[in-house]
Order: sequence, then structure tokens, then C-alpha cells
Amino acid sequence: MRRLAPGRLVLASHNAGKLREFSALLAPHGLDLISAGALGLAEPAETGTSFIENATIKALAAARATGLAALADDSGLAVAALGGAPGVYTADWAMRPDGSRDYAAAMARIAALDQSARRRCAFVAVLVLAWPDGHTESVEGNCAGHWVNPPRGTEGFGYDPMFIPDGEVLTFGEMTPAQKARHSHRARAFAALAEGCLTSGG
Ligand code: IMP
Repeated sequence: MRRLAPGRLVLASHNAGKLREFSALLAPHGLDLISAGALGLAEPAETGTSFIENATIKALAAARATGLAALADDSGLAVAALGGAPGVYTADWAMRPDGSRDYAAAMARIAALDQSARRRCAFVAVLVLAWPDGHTESVEGNCAGHWVNPPRGTEGFGYDPMFIPDGEVLTFGEMTPAQKARHSHRARAFAALAEGCLTSGG
């Protein structure tokens, strides 16, 4: 895998929850993280049908717009009884007509649709690191668990209050950021990226 030189890295996301988690994950690696939101970059249309396609679209758009290396995360929740839905459409399931997001409604929709006893689901994250010359590297992380209703906790973001990773009793919404990072799809994907592309110790 290509290694990333120390310096500035753009996070190709406008999601404050992802920014918080990547800032903590990147802290030991000597990189100065700037978000696409802070730079005023437009959000490209996520026209892909897979996590890797959408992450690649976002990372390349940010790298080309800034001339800097860019990191994108495309992620979602795959519910076993729903054939992996909402999957790449996880953000869309929370979309209101005015473009804002209603995660309580999206979590209630999953609870209404999944009539299975085991309520199995997994969070998935694909990270793509893109350079301005068009080179990309990608990694994937998964976290298996089950969903609960009603959702619990106010930590984290998105669907965190309905998800319990295997081996735990708390939802991601009830965990501290450090507890969530011990399990999360994003932290697992990031560990693979750090191993292949990043320098530790800054
Ligand atoms: P994306 O920003 O297009 O990748 O959409 C990701 C969707 O999955 C959003 O609705 C997020 O809220 C949700 N999601 C991804 N990762 C997490 C997580 O760690 N916790 C809760 N929801 C997540």
C-alpha cells in the first residue's frame, strides 16, 4: 500500500460524528485533519451502489478539489433479516423531505420491518484514502451485533442508540467514545489503513 507523508489530510465528510471519531483515531499519526465541511467543499452525489464506490467518489472529489490527500468513509448498517438493508442507503433512510435527518424515525422503521427473533445486524465501514494524482487505497471494517428497540443513549451519532456489538450489553449510544472505538467498524477499518498507509508516533 502507498504510504501517506505527514502533513495535511482532508476528511471528505460533512458528518460531525465521523469527524470526531477520525480526529481521535488520527491523533497519534502526526496528520493535520481538516474537514471538507470546514473547507466549504461541495458534497458529491453518492451515485455508487457499494460502499467502496461511494467512498472512492467522495475521496477523489476532495483530493482533486484541494490538491491534498483525502480520506473518505462510506458506512452503514446491514440488517440480516432485511437482506442487508439499509446498507449503502443507511443515510437515505433517515432523510426528511427538507434534507435534514431523522434518525429516530429511521431506527423505528428498522424495528418495524425486522420481525426476526435474533435481530442480527452489522455496521460496515469502507475507508478510501485518495491522493491528488488519482491513486487510492481502501480498507473495510465490520462490527457484528444486534439491534434493540427502544434505542438507548445519547452518545455517538446516527444509529448508535439501537446497536449493541456482540459481547456487550450497552448500545453504542451508551458507550464512551473510547468504548465504542474498541468495537467499531470505523476503528477496525482505520487500524488496517494505519498499518498499511500511516506513520505512527507523528
Ligand atoms: P454516509 O455518510 O453516506 O457514509 O452514511 C452513513 C450512514 O450510516 C449515516 O446515516 C450514519 O449515521 C450511519 N452510520 C455510519 N457509521 C455509523 C456509526 O458509527 N454509528 C451510527 N450510525 C452510523
